[in-house]
Amino acid sequence: MVLAQLGGSISRALQQMSNATIIDEKVLNDCLNEITRALLQADVQFKLVRDMSTNIKKIVNLEDLAAGHNKRRIIQQAVYNELCKILDPGKPSFTLKKGKPSVVMFVGLQGSGKTTTCTKYAYHHQKKGWKPALVCADTFRAGAFDQLKQNATKAKIPFYGSYTESDPVKIAVDGVETFKKENCDLIIVDTSGRHKQEAALFEEMRQVSEATKPDLVIFVMDSSIGQAAFDQAQAFRQSVAVGAVIVTKMDGHAKGGGALSAVAATKSPVIFIGTGEHMDEFEVFDVKPFVSRLLG
Ligand code: GDP
Repeated sequence: MVLAQLGGSISRALQQMSNATIIDEKVLNDCLNEITRALLQADVQFKLVRDMSTNIKKIVNLEDLAAGHNKRRIIQQAVYNELCKILDPGKPSFTLKKGKPSVVMFVGLQGSGKTTTCTKYAYHHQKKGWKPALVCADTFRAGAFDQLKQNATKAKIPFYGSYTESDPVKIAVDGVETFKKENCDLIIVDTSGRHKQEAALFEEMRQVSEATKPDLVIFVMDSSIGQAAFDQAQAFRQSVAVGAVIVTKMDGHAKGGGALSAVAATKSPVIFIGTGEHMDEFEVFDVKPFVSRLLG
């Protein structure tokens, strides 16, 4: 995963700083420049990187640090804290309650991995004792219902969809009602995507959301979209109340920095990452262990 390269570059920059005999302004600046370069190469949004660097300089005020202070440690801690801060929007994602019917709506562009992720999310919760169900409200992509049906059947998860109904709002509402009656406690609504951010897509998202009143809207983002991540995530957030992010294809050649940008744009936490095409290639995302691992 290219994220490992990002971690490697940051760790190396910190190590070089640590190896310096005296830590002065120049050493700190060199270290921050290296980290900045690494983050930009990993597609983290420019403004985020610039703010991070400014914040670290503010925290690590070398002149005011009395002799005896461990400057290396302070700089390392500041870098760790700032990376955590980017990934932590400061509010937890909505917590679902087992046994009480919750509706979770998935949004994202076509090809982002939305349908695959819906099943992974359902399967993950099913293993933990939930009663999930899948609703296919994607009437735009031919074959979407078949794909969801196939995935759901494999995971033994009930599903709802239609080959004839063309109104996604009607399918979503009917599906949610059906599964509420069946006492499912996690009703997952997969919605249409488009290749691009389009007004029609956002209007459809708004309508499905208004009709189904989801407890949580999850934005699914392909980690390889790079610098486009921030704008894309923000566009979705402006249409529907995104409450959490799932970043897919973290196993590929993605640089991963888009995840950091998506958090900033949606002010919502990343809750899972997708690490492969299979149902169980799905990991819970926790900021602190992630950043610790990133920095080695
Ligand atoms: P949708 O159009 O957003 O519903 O996207 P799909 O769920 O159909 O996924 C598009 C492609 O990405 C499919 O070939 C999936 O198998 C693949 N995919 C989804 N998630 C991941 C992931 O985490 N890793 C990898 N390698 N492939 C993924």
